[in-house]
Amino acid sequence: MTVSDQSEPNPKYKRIILKLSGEVLRNTEDGEPIDPNTLRAICEEVKKVYDIGVQVGLVIGGGNIFRGLSGAEMKGVDRTTGDYMGMLATVINGLALMDCLEKLGVTVRLQSAIPMDKLAEPFILRRATRHLERGRVVIFAGGTGNPYFSTDTAAALRASETGANMLMKATKVDGIYNKDPEKHADAVKYDHVPYIDALRDRLKIMDSTAFSLCMENKLPILVFSMREPGSIYRAVMGEEIGTLVD
Ligand code: UDP
Repeated sequence: MTVSDQSEPNPKYKRIILKLSGEVLRNTEDGEPIDPNTLRAICEEVKKVYDIGVQVGLVIGGGNIFRGLSGAEMKGVDRTTGDYMGMLATVINGLALMDCLEKLGVTVRLQSAIPMDKLAEPFILRRATRHLERGRVVIFAGGTGNPYFSTDTAAALRASETGANMLMKATKVDGIYNKDPEKHADAVKYDHVPYIDALRDRLKIMDSTAFSLCMENKLPILVFSMREPGSIYRAVMGEEIGTLVD
């Protein structure tokens, strides 16, 4: 082994799907749905693993702009129409992510599950996999393309079909706790949670469709916090951060 071999980072996880909720882009002070500084900080975190050759797929939510269920409850919009509005919101976020990543020198492709050929490639699995193999970050927008689903399920689906080694789910807290750590000082964090417990306890981290898809495909899910810089990098290098559902 040469000296240069020794200094090359050797990530444990070579292909990841990172699920970002739309809310992570929001400006917590003025409530604006997309905060440029937050967006940039997230993209810089993605670039850190892109730079060491990790193949990265991003699934972005739309909850900072529109959610079908709350649209139906509060605004009187038909549920399926609301869901399509939510899926379109993910495309807005996807465009923002693509723009920001490109400005950082990252090669990106945006694919949408709802065809929108002026803005994004249509989602085509083989093409997406090829982009990943060539080291391009792929942003999967438009959710699954179907109402009544969530972008968590879209993330579980894209991770399963692209053969990702891990689904990383960024949340506000640094893992899964026995009770809400923001309300209870004595809350205990789990390092590992079996899929079946996550499903049985109906953990609010992801919906049950997403959990069961991961369980069937033996896809590990890492629940972690984006608030700690370097988390994605540490996780792909195999450091035990957050909570692993497997
Ligand atoms: N959505 C959908 N089908 C999908 C993915 C998303 O109908 O496959 C709609 C749904 O209305 C959802 C909204 O898009 O509420 C935004 O997605 P999500 O709530 O998952 O975003 P996040 O909470 O991650 O920001």
